[in-house]
Amino acid sequence: MQKEVGSLIIGVLALQGGVNEHVHHIESIGCKSILVKNALDLSLIDGLIIPGGESTTISKLLKLTNLDSEIIQKAKQGLPIWGTCAGMILLSKEIENDENGHLSLINIRVKRNAYGRQIDSFVAKDIINSIDSSEEFPMVFIRAPYVSKILSSQVEILASIDNNIVAVREGNILATSFHPELTSDLRFHKYFIDICIKNKFN
Ligand code: GLN
Repeated sequence: MQKEVGSLIIGVLALQGGVNEHVHHIESIGCKSILVKNALDLSLIDGLIIPGGESTTISKLLKLTNLDSEIIQKAKQGLPIWGTCAGMILLSKEIENDENGHLSLINIRVKRNAYGRQIDSFVAKDIINSIDSSEEFPMVFIRAPYVSKILSSQVEILASIDNNIVAVREGNILATSFHPELTSDLRFHKYFIDICIKNKFN
């Protein structure tokens, strides 16, 4: 990757959920990482990952710490943000059969726990063209949501499994139903870091 990688600081929202695995991937690629727990942390970073976990819990903690409005402000200024699983739910504008969106930063509607109990967790493999058209990407789903509706033509569909949309991008906001941090494959993290590099240096 580009020489700029070493100068990037990627934040991982560290209120609840699977933080360490993202940190490991970011550092394996050669970026610095910090745990984001307050507005000061947020001011230091070139990109933010919102990890999987429990979206209702993370949402409550976002409100308590006031980080919700800080993140929304940073996103509007162009900070790249990637949400995995619960992170996707937190970023989406609408949530099916549920309350309104939390951060409402990407024009999608999601269905929580969309895959039903008997297949709460599973792994799928498919080509994701934006990531790498030559080799399938492993996708780990854990009580995952999927995108049930796209609410803007600006939203790009990156991946679908069984006709359900599981990865999307709208400008600086990226959301995946699955967990690339739970595999040893670094390509999705590299894709996000590339967005962060373009945002910082172009
Ligand atoms: N089902 C969880 C939620 O609704 C998300 C699960 C996950 O992040 N692995 O928040």
